Amino acid sequence: MISNKKILITGGAGFIGSHLVEALVGLGNEVVVLDNLLRGNKIVSDVFKKITFIKADVNDFNQVLEASIGCDMIFHFAAILGVDIVADNPMETMETEVIGTQNVVRAALQNNISKIIYASTSGVYGHNALEQTVTEEILVDPTTSYAMAKRYNEIYLASLQEEKGIDCICLRFFNVYGPRQDSRMVVPRFIEQAKAGRSITVYGSGKQTRDFTYIDDTIKATIKLASNVTGFEIFNVANELESDISTLAEKIRVFTESKSEITLINAPAKRYDYEVGRRVGSSDKLMRFTGFKPTTSLDEGIKSILEYAR
Ligand code: UDP
Repeated sequence: MISNKKILITGGAGFIGSHLVEALVGLGNEVVVLDNLLRGNKIVSDVFKKITFIKADVNDFNQVLEASIGCDMIFHFAAILGVDIVADNPMETMETEVIGTQNVVRAALQNNISKIIYASTSGVYGHNALEQTVTEEILVDPTTSYAMAKRYNEIYLASLQEEKGIDCICLRFFNVYGPRQDSRMVVPRFIEQAKAGRSITVYGSGKQTRDFTYIDDTIKATIKLASNVTGFEIFNVANELESDISTLAEKIRVFTESKSEITLINAPAKRYDYEVGRRVGSSDKLMRFTGFKPTTSLDEGIKSILEYAR
């Protein structure tokens, strides 16, 4: 486990970031968060008191350099994400990925930081995920600005590790969900609709599937990988459970005791390039390296979110 370290987390005020901050503070680490607060601050107030917070953009090199002074490792989680937002802002999405990661790398080199943990995406598999439960070995097929930039950064970090010896661990997250996520993503969006009694808007046939991975499992996997793995490695962080979106909608309706209708509608046109019919990941490699893989079922995960909200 990671303890007594000084750690920079870019994007630490976001959904995954804020849970990571909480866990790393709980393990006795000194945490610095750099975040531009574009989506607000999701770090709970008790935890916020215990960290150093820098309101800055990851695209600002001097801020990243200063934030990382004396750090042992950097979790680089700052990104523009959410299908609708990325589709509206493809250039800004790519620039934030590419320049932000370059800044993190240059800061790590100047400040002698030995490890970078990078939030990549299961989106890199694109349509190659359709036929199979994907492992890290299959050919990637990124088709969107977001996934393309994430894949570029994986290769960039592999080069960094090869040339400069900095350990780089890339995490391909599969539809992470949990408390404090905002309604850019489908799970909180459906919960919000169900609680408000509005229609639950399932796009297309609703038969498309995702591998929903609960936040607590995601954080456990992230911290275990950060402490156990050296060199350059890519890992899926997946639940290995395939759920279709209509079933997700139905579960949320039942668990919230909502009277909402579930309606099938056409997805907004800008989503077409981003939609894949199927995506489920293998966590075998994660298990091999850490002895851990996600276990929280979708039912348990949704109930935990509703519980947290109470
Ligand atoms: N989705 C939906 N209704 C919504 C929002 C999303 O049916 O209001 C579907 C979307 O078409 C996709 C899945 O839910 O198949 C997951 O969408 P999200 O944007 O959360 O993540 P993605 O997997 O697309 O990155």
